[in-house]
Amino acid sequence: MVLYTPEMTHHRRDCMMTYKIGLLFLLSMNAFSAVLKEYIPNKSVKNGYVEPFQMFDDLYYVGDKWVSSYLVTTSDGLVLIDSLDSPYGRWIPQNIQKLGFNPKDIRYIFITHGHSDHVGSAEYIQRHFGAKVMMSSIDFRLAKFTAKNSTGDNLFLPPKVETFVSDNDELSVGSKHFKFYLTPGHTRGTLSLEFFVTDKGKSYRAFIVGGNGTNFTGFDLAEKYAHSVQRIRNLSLSKPHVEVNLASHPHMAQIFERNARYSQQTNPFIDQESFQEFLDVLEKRSVKKLAKEKKK
Ligand SMILES: [Zn+2]
Repeated sequence: MVLYTPEMTHHRRDCMMTYKIGLLFLLSMNAFSAVLKEYIPNKSVKNGYVEPFQMFDDLYYVGDKWVSSYLVTTSDGLVLIDSLDSPYGRWIPQNIQKLGFNPKDIRYIFITHGHSDHVGSAEYIQRHFGAKVMMSSIDFRLAKFTAKNSTGDNLFLPPKVETFVSDNDELSVGSKHFKFYLTPGHTRGTLSLEFFVTDKGKSYRAFIVGGNGTNFTGFDLAEKYAHSVQRIRNLSLSKPHVEVNLASHPHMAQIFERNARYSQQTNPFIDQESFQEFLDVLEKRSVKKLAKEKKK
């Protein structure tokens, strides 16, 4: 038989109190870590934040300092192209709101390739705003691999992919028509795409080369890269010529310098020559890469 002395009761109450405080602490820690998990990074220069801006009547830049993300407006909702690294892509919905649109209107997210700086925030945007994600099946495998190896602040999940895109696929979203090309090299399943953008009502052919760098290994990929660049060159020179370079990294198309020169009279993003110069750069890279891989 146990006799409860007043001290013991007091002790039990203390234990209960400690238990309750402990439970509250644990619960708040859980809530805290849930918030932490989805935290939105400071919009600082150091973090690479860039204020979103308009490039065409129907095209906006919503990416950061290092990686592009483009927002296309159509008569039937919004299309987002690439999603930035996690957690920096969490700026994208806020950028979209800043531009006066509703991120819930994103119908599609097109992903150029499976590296984290392009696919990293697609799952976040999809989960919160219900967009359909489209990418190549080859690079979806890469996205799953990169997600599995993501850690710490950059931890992310692969998105749910609605439609796998194959070479020469086309998609109409309202008034906009997108054409996709499988352009392997930078990755095995890099996707490039083209569509028309308008400036003061006039139409211009825009092209996104899905992967620029030769930071891969293998002679067969180097050959594929060279072939893809040549193919994009041929495509771009069919009429009407490509006049708008929407590179997947802003420095490859001097996106910010051009934006600084933007005025009501001139749109510096319209520049046919510079797209060919950009392809020259990719071609030089491919020659160098082929030679390097051959030596191995
Ligand atoms: Zn990449």
